[in-house]
Amino acid sequence: MWLLDLDNTLHDASSEVFPRIHRAMVEFLALELALSHEQADALRFGYWKRYGATLLGMVRHHDIDAHRFLRETHAFPDLERIVRRDRRLEHALRRLPGRRVVLTNAPLDYATRVVRALGIAGCIESIVSIESMRFAGRFQPKPSRAMLRRVAARLGVAPSRCILVEDTPANLAAARAIGMQTILVTGTTRRPRHAMHRLLAGSSRRIGLQVQSVAHLPRKASWGNARERRGAAHRPT
Ligand SMILES: [Mg+2]
Repeated sequence: MWLLDLDNTLHDASSEVFPRIHRAMVEFLALELALSHEQADALRFGYWKRYGATLLGMVRHHDIDAHRFLRETHAFPDLERIVRRDRRLEHALRRLPGRRVVLTNAPLDYATRVVRALGIAGCIESIVSIESMRFAGRFQPKPSRAMLRRVAARLGVAPSRCILVEDTPANLAAARAIGMQTILVTGTTRRPRHAMHRLLAGSSRRIGLQVQSVAHLPRKASWGNARERRGAAHRPT
């Protein structure tokens, strides 16, 4: 079972999508809480750092309607212009044996549109979005281990039969801690080399394999021992 992250794993969200979501969140916070843009941005960043998602802080501390927040901050009338069909990605996904599920902290409507715009809807069994990561009365997105366990159970597979493909090392570390196999995708975004090295510092031992893009994923659902893994890894260049 392939669990595929969406943003910055299957497509580059850092150049246009993320800056616009951030701006929309700042606007939302500023308007809703009567803050300056600077205060709103600081709050947005603080919640993101503390909870892994700005949404969690907004729900917990300001009783904001989660669905309205997600809808208003992920409104992309021109999404199909920004995210374009990628035949190489489609080809790469079709090569992966077994079930393929998108696992994203983004909302379902946005994720569905990105998947369609990329032209990969036919390669994906389903999308697990932030709306379905709510249990015990609260949102528990990645890197929640409880959520990862729950998602695997819901999909009817043992965590050890899941491979999480991601650009965020913290999410991979959580997956690895519950017994999932993990692959770090390093090259979708145009992160400066020193930033990537910093990101990987200390975390590479917890990550199963590194590839530059989804096109470099191994065809087999499992691979050799740790030594072979290190040898096969595509290090960022
Ligand atoms: Mg990502």
